[in-house]
Parts: sequence; structure tokens; C-alpha cells
Amino acid sequence: YSLPNRAIKIAVLGAGGVGKTALVVRFLTRRFIGDYERNAGNLYSREVQVDGEQVTLQVQDTPGAEMSDNGALLPDHVSCSLHWADAVVLVYSVTDRRSFELVPQLHQTVSRCATSGGRAPPVVLLANKADLLHLRCVDQEQGPLLAATLGCTFYEVSASEDYSQVHGAFHRLCCQLAKQRPP
Ligand code: GDP
Repeated sequence: YSLPNRAIKIAVLGAGGVGKTALVVRFLTRRFIGDYERNAGNLYSREVQVDGEQVTLQVQDTPGAEMSDNGALLPDHVSCSLHWADAVVLVYSVTDRRSFELVPQLHQTVSRCATSGGRAPPVVLLANKADLLHLRCVDQEQGPLLAATLGCTFYEVSASEDYSQVHGAFHRLCCQLAKQRPP
């Protein structure tokens, strides 16, 4: 007889094409897959070690969100995954201004879900595609400023070039969540 593993549930949100799937796949498999079959909406599940303890990590990849007049437009099942998640990772691309501008709306949507369903989950903001220097259109200072306004943690990463940053961002979030959960 063994106790069931504890599960940590993370939802990954952001505009289409910012690298949500690439980040999740990179974190969970260490691999960067450039051109792969799109499988946004997948629920990935892996056993990981957090502070020496085995936990089940579930990551919900979601299809791209869009901007609308009254907030971020999310498919219904994405709103559901917000109720389900212990934490939310918001992603924008430093090469896509609109994806950056969508972040406050997405954050608001997350907060709104939380007010209807309890405590607000921790949110991490990831600026992805930092390797594409020549295509950058969101300045390096803007990410931390936005994160400070929203009250969330911030990392600039590259799913394609840097595994350790991507791993560090997700791993620290897992540690934080593992501490918060009752044993
Ligand atoms: P999603 O729609 O947010 O899930 O985005 P994808 O993960 O499908 O990525 C969209 C495109 O951006 C794909 O062609 C990826 O290979 C590419 N991509 C993702 N992350 C990076 C990155 O960090 N750097 C570069 N150069 N390309 C990336």
C-alpha cells in the first residue's frame, strides 16, 4: 500500500504562437521540437521530484487566447482549466507586441475565475523567444514592470535556446506549490 502521489496542476495561457507548447514540451522532455504537430489543449502528466518528494505534475497546454472588447477571449474549456489549476503560467513572446498586450486581460480573467472559485492561484509571467534578438519588439524592461504591476513572478526565457531557464521557472513554481499543499 502506498499513498497516492500528490498532484500539482499548472495551466499555461497566452496568445497563439508564443511558444506555450514548446515550453511545456521543453520542460517535461528537455527537448525543443521546432516543427511538430500542434497539440495545444493537451494535458501532460509526468512524475517529478520536488524537494526530494515524488509528485505528479499535470500541465494543461491551451489554445491561443485572443483579445476582445470585454477581456481576453478564451474557449470554454480553457476557463474550466483555470478553475482546475493550482497555478497559472502566462506566456507572451518578445517578438509579438499583441501577445504582451494581451497579458493584463488574461491576468484579469484568471483573477475573475479565482473570485468565483476561491483563492487566486499564483501566476508566473514568462517572456519567451528571448533568442530572437533581431525580432524583439517588447523591451527587456517592460516584462518585469508588467509583472510588478500584476504582482507575479517574471522570467525571460527561450524554449529553443535555454533549457535551464525554462526548467528553473517551472521548477520553482512546483516547489512553491508543493510547500503550500497540505501533506
Ligand atoms: P503556442 O501556439 O503558444 O503553443 O506556440 P508553439 O509552441 O506552437 O510555438 C510557435 C512557434 O514558435 C513554433 O514554430 C515554435 O518552434 C516557435 N518557438 C517556440 N518557442 C520558441 C523560442 O523560444 N525561440 C524560437 N526561436 N522559436 C520558438
